[in-house]
Amino acid sequence: MSGPPPAREEVLIRAAWVLTVGPEGDVPDGAVHVRDGEIVAVGPYPDLRAALPDVPVTGDGTGLLIPGFVNAHTHLSEALATGMGSELTLFEWGERLVGPLGSVLTEEDAREGTRLRAVEMLLSGVTTVNDMFVHCNAEEYASLGVVAGLESAGMRGVVSFGAEDVAAPGQPAWADVTRIMAEQDALAAAADAAELVVYRYGVGTLLGQSDELLEAGVDACRRHGWAVHTHLAEVREELVAAAQRWGRRTIPHALRLGLFERPLIAGHGVWVTEPDIEILASHDVAIAHNPVANMILGSGVCPVPRLRKAGIAVGIGTDGAASNDGQDMLQAVKMAALLQKVHTLDPSVIDAPDVLRMATLDGARALGLDHLVGSVEPGKRADLVLLQDSVCVSVLHDPCGQLVYGASPRAVREVWVDGRKLVDDHACTVIDEREQIEVCRPLTRRIAEASGLASTGFSRLGGTAK
Ligand SMILES: [Zn+2]
Repeated sequence: MSGPPPAREEVLIRAAWVLTVGPEGDVPDGAVHVRDGEIVAVGPYPDLRAALPDVPVTGDGTGLLIPGFVNAHTHLSEALATGMGSELTLFEWGERLVGPLGSVLTEEDAREGTRLRAVEMLLSGVTTVNDMFVHCNAEEYASLGVVAGLESAGMRGVVSFGAEDVAAPGQPAWADVTRIMAEQDALAAAADAAELVVYRYGVGTLLGQSDELLEAGVDACRRHGWAVHTHLAEVREELVAAAQRWGRRTIPHALRLGLFERPLIAGHGVWVTEPDIEILASHDVAIAHNPVANMILGSGVCPVPRLRKAGIAVGIGTDGAASNDGQDMLQAVKMAALLQKVHTLDPSVIDAPDVLRMATLDGARALGLDHLVGSVEPGKRADLVLLQDSVCVSVLHDPCGQLVYGASPRAVREVWVDGRKLVDDHACTVIDEREQIEVCRPLTRRIAEASGLASTGFSRLGGTAK
């Protein structure tokens, strides 16, 4: 049965290796002392046990304990829309799939879809998610459902509304700037009222916004001090279209608009030039790398080593469930390594500790949350993942290599967020997975029919033959 997030516990969590991604490095036969939602100490298990004989212990001393993953970029608006249109390019996919989907999404879809994907994320070790909800339903402030969904799941999150207002030729815009900014204000207020959720100003894409909305957004970010979540340089077509519209690429145009005056995280950064990299590196701009989505849509390969060398924080994201086609972070972590190796024909171009760091501390830095999470360090919040009980983490010649290249969600035994145990014995404690699937089944069917995705044959939910 689904229930409220559990109370915070005082506990010693024990594993064969604690990969701290912090100053303590990798601790063999290690443990972490958690109290009041905070990491109090990390060190060898025998020492901590001797000092704390009365504190309950969890974990049997095998496997791995790591900082929770930061899913640096996703779209929970796609929570109920997996597995369609994987043969389309990004622009076609946006027009034929994401657009129709976004026109029918409701606050209920957002809340229940978030809860469904929260289960999948938690069971692949995600404790923090950076979401951009994309919709164009004039009737509802649908994006607010994400806050309710994350809160009920107990996850840490960053929410944004990836608004766009450029209509197809001959069509009216779905909303004016006032309507869109009103939803931004409402989402910011909902996030402010939540315990573990913060808000960022969302710009779906620069090309998807009118110049009026782009300027209103920069103005609002200056007034409110909002940070920003957007997409930049995802596909080559974006650069051509931007040059036609503004006479420059999207990154110099974002700079000119003032979008980089506030901290900004952008999905992708695939098609960046050296001058673009200089602009990103000299401002507080981070990149969320989404290897699985880039491969599915045939978008290109993000120059991750070059960006990191320039000092840019590069996190790892799953991207939305419609361009992945799931929210399995362990898969994204593995693909982040493999894609660079095959692209450069150099297996040493990136190593497992680099990839783990990207998926944890660098993702937290990219979101301005590294003072709270991203590494196992005393004083940080207790967002932790214990991997045990599976063949994939039972023989640990090289614990970090085994995690990045060999671990699957089957090994995720416990997940802690802010000191609350959200996964116990490989199952979500807060949301009943089977129950949530049944809640989402009719919502998914309604979305497929109302959006036209069923009648156009993208969705075969009704059993349509091909
Ligand atoms: Zn995206």
